[in-house]
Amino acid sequence: MKRVEPQVFLLARPAINDEGLAAYLQAVGAPGWDTDAPSGGEKLIEVAGRSCYRSFEPGLNPNVTKIREGSKAYLENILKVKHGSVLEHANWTFAFFNVSRVCTHEIVRHRAGTAISQESLRFVRLTEIGMWLPPEIRDNPEALAIFEEAVVKSEEAQNRLAEVLEIEGRPFHEKKVLTSAMRRVAPDGVATTIIWSANARTLRWVIEARTEPGAEVEIRMVFGKVADIMTREAPHLFGDFKPIPLPDGTSQWQPAHSKV
Ligand SMILES: Cc1cc2nc3c(=O)[nH]c(=O)nc-3n(C[C@H](O)[C@H](O)[C@H](O)COP(=O)(O)OP(=O)(O)OC[C@H]3O[C@@H](n4cnc5c(N)ncnc54)[C@H](O)[C@@H]3O)c2cc1C
Repeated sequence: MKRVEPQVFLLARPAINDEGLAAYLQAVGAPGWDTDAPSGGEKLIEVAGRSCYRSFEPGLNPNVTKIREGSKAYLENILKVKHGSVLEHANWTFAFFNVSRVCTHEIVRHRAGTAISQESLRFVRLTEIGMWLPPEIRDNPEALAIFEEAVVKSEEAQNRLAEVLEIEGRPFHEKKVLTSAMRRVAPDGVATTIIWSANARTLRWVIEARTEPGAEVEIRMVFGKVADIMTREAPHLFGDFKPIPLPDGTSQWQPAHSKV
């Protein structure tokens, strides 16, 4: 058994195609429009939102005589009036590494606005089992001994089964079948990887739901890290999230505008 810590890596963020945006602004009649948005995602969402009313400048749409100036004021209003669908244009991609199957199973329950690639434990054979220790286990020597013994037994079972089933040297499709049979005795806490993409609307909702005190501690840790990244990555979209420290060292990230 190898002790691990869940890690969160930001892999990708939205980028504006300046040439295409300039051509669109020219076509719509606002060639001089620009914004002080701190990130590509915030800029994209502002463009999408302003397109709805042609509110790039006063008078472009004769019904619009004044507009909100600047990325911060514009996006704050989007959040306030819960015009959440425009947030769906901007997507970010994360690698959640050394998270448990407990955690990935909870993550995949979020369907709307996500894309998922999960490490296949049919293909990837378990040898040494990675395990994050929940504080209740880590801080109780007797519980820790029972826990570690169970994980080591499961690890031994993987290796003994591999021998008994003579997995080495077989064609890949046979290895896959056997690996999948063997993983059934792996613990739910086994460390694994999931690549998770989500749009800004989904990110806001999942951070809120999964850092609340009732959420499981590991997913609370993971989405606390996501919240920390996103408040720096796109401050005008996530700046209303504030961390409220919880007794276990994690934080509840509470937004001023819930579920936009
Ligand atoms: C603290 C906590 C405890 C939980 N405990 C349990 C449990 O004991 N058992 C259990 O099974 N699950 C549990 N869950 C999971 C929970 O029930 C949801 O499945 C999960 O949080 C996904 O959230 P969501 O339903 O908002 O879906 P998301 O996919 O995140 O969707 C976001 C929003 O889009 C809308 N939406 C999405 N899909 C639809 C649809 N098909 N129809 C209409 N509107 C839709 C809804 O407004 C939804 O809130 C728990 C979650 C939390 C945070």
